[in-house]
Amino acid sequence: MKQVIYLITGLLLMAGLQQCSSSQTPSPEKEQQHKAQQTMDTSKKPANPAYSRTDNNKVELNDEEWRKILPADVFHIARQKGTERPWSSKYEDFSEIGTYYCAVCGNALFRSDTKFESGCGWPSFYEPITKGSIIYEPDHSHGMSRTEVMCGRCKSHLGHVFEDGPPPTGLRYCINGVVLDFEKAKAAEKKYGEGKKP
Ligand SMILES: [Zn+2]
Repeated sequence: MKQVIYLITGLLLMAGLQQCSSSQTPSPEKEQQHKAQQTMDTSKKPANPAYSRTDNNKVELNDEEWRKILPADVFHIARQKGTERPWSSKYEDFSEIGTYYCAVCGNALFRSDTKFESGCGWPSFYEPITKGSIIYEPDHSHGMSRTEVMCGRCKSHLGHVFEDGPPPTGLRYCINGVVLDFEKAKAAEKKYGEGKKP
């Protein structure tokens, strides 16, 4: 039975790698830790002085400095260009209304209304929140020719962009959920709640 589970896991992983990237994945323990962290208030990170939802200045720290202030799984993906296991992010099958931020520096990256179900195993968007919120770079690693996307503020690795997305852009930003923070649209929620009152 265990072998079957390993086999299925292996096949899922391979299918994912063809779509997105490398074979390095965080351990299940760290992943669970991270999921727990994601449920807390994400607008402030006491351990990470670089994190701000309001400061637009570029952040430039070296890897040793990042290692000290980031959770291990975020450091691995963001600073070592790792890739989370497909279908491991709580944001993969997630349709709340709000904004996605860089989990490393707090830079706004995507709006929930540009998120779509790509079926690739990673949170997918068709457009960044602003042109400057993302930096693009050619990536020829792992024998593939892809375009890497990085945070426009801290240059953290986020994922890749592919040209098989839906209209209006035709793009698919395939993003590691580990490097995303989500904040619900409070104003919209409130308005909706008021509207529902008898
Ligand atoms: Zn960032």
